[in-house]
Amino acid sequence: MGLSIATRRFASVTAGYRSFVKRAMTGTMFSPRSASRRRSDASSQLCPPAMTGRPRAVVTGGAGFLGSHLCDALLAADYEVICLDNFLTGNPSNVAHLLDDDRFRLVRCDVVEFIHVSGPVDVVLHFASPASPVDYLQLPIDTLNVGSIGTGHALGLARDKGARLVLASTSEVYGDPLVHPQREDYWGNVNPVGPRGVYDEAKRFSEALTTAYRTTYGVDAAIVRIFNTFGPRMRPHDGRAIPTFIRQALAGEPLTVAGDGAQTRSVCFVEDLVAGILAMVRSDHPGPINIGNPTELTVQQIAEDVVATTGSRSVIRYVERPVDDPQVRRPDTSLAGQVLGWRPQVSWLEGLSRTVDWFARLQQRPA
Ligand code: NAD
Repeated sequence: MGLSIATRRFASVTAGYRSFVKRAMTGTMFSPRSASRRRSDASSQLCPPAMTGRPRAVVTGGAGFLGSHLCDALLAADYEVICLDNFLTGNPSNVAHLLDDDRFRLVRCDVVEFIHVSGPVDVVLHFASPASPVDYLQLPIDTLNVGSIGTGHALGLARDKGARLVLASTSEVYGDPLVHPQREDYWGNVNPVGPRGVYDEAKRFSEALTTAYRTTYGVDAAIVRIFNTFGPRMRPHDGRAIPTFIRQALAGEPLTVAGDGAQTRSVCFVEDLVAGILAMVRSDHPGPINIGNPTELTVQQIAEDVVATTGSRSVIRYVERPVDDPQVRRPDTSLAGQVLGWRPQVSWLEGLSRTVDWFARLQQRPA
């Protein structure tokens, strides 16, 4: 069990980022023999009790797309941040720019195995989970385990520390919705044995477990249901529509639109999403609360806007629609407005342009 766990105070890495990434990704930061002995020593050295009086946050899945933006925002709000990630679908490069900040720790940790953080913790943001359909279809058991066992460990940490926990749930709990737009009191239309069931049901279970910790142990635990979010640091090959379209457009390849493209999505720029999550951290509301941009776009429109924004000559090619692909998706965000005073600020086209810029720069970087 100790073999897959390695921890290190990355802020003091002097051996160079490349060698760090290589060792982190291959799990060779500690020798297997010493790993379990070091686990307790290292975690107390590497996550020392807060000495500064700053609030302290633990972000599971912090090296992923959303998690890394959350780490940025928490540091900007002067939190100490402990980022736990096993790099299953995330990458240390997403937080490489934070490694020199003394308030930041990156710890390689599979939250399905255990979570140990010494010292006080004020907030736990539980974001670890494969999230794109390509990822969770390839990693069905990991997805179910992190949603169930991993969520239990995150809740256990919050209980031990008396911390507030915010669970990253998803609009997928509504499945292929029969009610439109989706309000938090809609129970959803999910196929538990369909291919997407591994993700949808993992998240539904994690919501139930979070609620049970709240009612049974009095843990200050809250649920946010995140709708499709996009922005810099998405992986070009993660299979989600926007990064796929941008990658294809920048390469001059056809954009592959599923079905006839009439299905709708509501897409939120990551900066808005993070503001909503931080508002949830500061509130004492248990949720569930929808966080997403209620502007509804067809997939066809998204593809056409990507072509226009990139200035590409790509054409659109229609491909088969995945099984259980939702036909419509739009959050009702009235509750977030009332309770958190939150509403998205960044328009679709502005967010798209900022995302395209980031992907274009990514393409120019040396491999
Ligand atoms: P992501 O794949 O970029 O990030 C997930 C992170 O979790 C990765 O860094 C991955 O390595 C890590 N992880 C996975 N299993 C782990 C484990 N067992 N232990 C430790 N770390 C583990 O995905 P994302 O888009 O950033 O999504 C983050 C969270 O937000 C997920 O819980 C997802 O379900 C939720 N969410 C995201 C969206 C979206 O549009 N991006 C929408 C709804 C919900």
